[in-house]
Amino acid sequence: LLGKTKEPNLQPLSLLDKLLPVYEELFLQLANAGAEWVQIDEPCFCLDSGQPFLPELAVAYRRLASVSPRLRIMIAAYFGGFGENLSAVLQLPVSAVHLDLSRAPQQLDTFFSEAPAPLSLSAGLIDGRNIWRTDLGQALKLAEHAIKKRGTDRLFIAPSCSLLHVPVDLDLETEMDNELRGWLSFAKQKVEETVLLARAVSDRSGNVAQALDANRATMLKKQTSARIHNEQVKQRLASVTKRMLQRESPYPARRKLQQESLRLPLLPTTTIGSFPQTSDVRAVRAEFKAGKRDLANYEAFLRTEIEKAVRFQEEIGLDLLVHGEFERNDMVEYFGEHLSGFSFTQNGWVQSYGSRCVKPPIIYGDVSRPKPMTVAWSQYAQSLTTKPMKGMLTGPVTILKWSFVRNDQPLADTCRQIALSIRDEVGDLEAAGIRVIQIDEPALREGLPLRRDEWKEYLAWAVDAFRLATSGVSDKTQIHTHMCYAEFNDIIEAIGALDADVISIETSRSQMELLGTFKEYKYPNEIGPGVYDIHSPRVPSRDEMVSLLASALKVLSPAQLWVNPDCGLKTRQWKEVRASLAAMVEAARTLRQSVA
Ligand code: GLN
Ligand code: ZN
Repeated sequence: LLGKTKEPNLQPLSLLDKLLPVYEELFLQLANAGAEWVQIDEPCFCLDSGQPFLPELAVAYRRLASVSPRLRIMIAAYFGGFGENLSAVLQLPVSAVHLDLSRAPQQLDTFFSEAPAPLSLSAGLIDGRNIWRTDLGQALKLAEHAIKKRGTDRLFIAPSCSLLHVPVDLDLETEMDNELRGWLSFAKQKVEETVLLARAVSDRSGNVAQALDANRATMLKKQTSARIHNEQVKQRLASVTKRMLQRESPYPARRKLQQESLRLPLLPTTTIGSFPQTSDVRAVRAEFKAGKRDLANYEAFLRTEIEKAVRFQEEIGLDLLVHGEFERNDMVEYFGEHLSGFSFTQNGWVQSYGSRCVKPPIIYGDVSRPKPMTVAWSQYAQSLTTKPMKGMLTGPVTILKWSFVRNDQPLADTCRQIALSIRDEVGDLEAAGIRVIQIDEPALREGLPLRRDEWKEYLAWAVDAFRLATSGVSDKTQIHTHMCYAEFNDIIEAIGALDADVISIETSRSQMELLGTFKEYKYPNEIGPGVYDIHSPRVPSRDEMVSLLASALKVLSPAQLWVNPDCGLKTRQWKEVRASLAAMVEAARTLRQSVA
């Protein structure tokens, strides 16, 4: 059901009949190999109420259940509740159902009132999606409630989901202080918590009692820790007004002032921020981090890289320049390292997609910005040129989404705290003479909740956070944002509500397909649909970019259109970047003549 089909009228479910024999064969092989249980993950059951449980699925499970009497099936879904689907799922001919009780504990009541007596419950009590130590007392209460209803025979204690989303082992974090470490639990520790909880159900003596006591003491101390709670931040958050979420004037008035200040040509050219993070750049940073280079030396190196990048951009004739982000290892980590309330691991790697791994920061406390984070670099870059220099920041939603987040306050509050810090940075950039500031929000869309009925609430606070971060500037300052995905249909109104002066988006791989969305919605501000794919080393020709831009002009007015690549260039080689950007500038020049 979650697969994407290419043929327009193909219903994915019509493939079920072909798929089932493959599953049956697999089940048989497992049974013959001695397996007693098979867990089937069905995360689609946690999706919308708009996706009703389909009778075909009951038929499918009946077939699977009859493959072998020795094989028992457990259905699992997580990151939310089964919702309206739970009643139907409980009637499937399976032996157990796994519930994510860390995200959706309210499911337990439905389970008890509707599950047939022989059905086992797998109680996902340990949060597998976050790195916090479990409040064992609280989890135990739920477990005991379950036992009262069902007895211990048909109960599993489990993490809420697979442990693929948390780092492997907290014991490897030798540099972390004991207080913070005491609050955390990685995959290995979560397995230990799971076992401890299962033991505590029947045995509260000796080691178990000790562990429970220690856990209770840690939880209590954490609640009031001065390291987490910063009164100043809380007060500032409480004093945020509606006015602070709004630019001084609506976009048309801002546009005029920005044009006077920036004097950009029609179809202005720019890039998304980063230039190649060459092995040189990475090696020098590694040396600096290892203490083999002092700060002055490292900064001198970065200044040289920035100057080279600025000269290159001037040479090929780009209109709005960037400093190149050479000082950043990662667009979230860099900001986390400069903000209070964040911590980092040495080895906390988790898979992000495919074979790519990331080491997300941990947001453990109230967030504030002790001092400017990027101003010196942007100011230096601007001092090298008379062309406008774009300040470059990561947005609050993306910083939140790509970190491990606090579980002791609503996400919206954490996000607003980050937004206030970014707002301070935006203000300082403006005061330092930076006239254009881009706030990247590539994670805005992936933050959408699984269930559509929760979208509105999420989008409301996500949009507000962006507006809080960006609305403190004068009308003359141009705010850009950037998002790297092409599926906007669902959230186009929220994108409009960000009220950024300019948005750059990924489109080249979809041949500007998504511009249809912008046409229908009549996006009022300026847009830079990426004209070439930065994921590929291929150097695009001027003419292909001219034709992409021409198709964009069927939907957008020339006054709205910016010319830029799809995303940042940090993974590319200079050789490709030089050629591609030079061709891109030529493409803009060519087109300017025909629309002027
Ligand atoms: N400014 C960032 C860069 O250019 C944006 C990266 C992103 O959108 N993921 O690298
Ligand atoms: Zn991007």
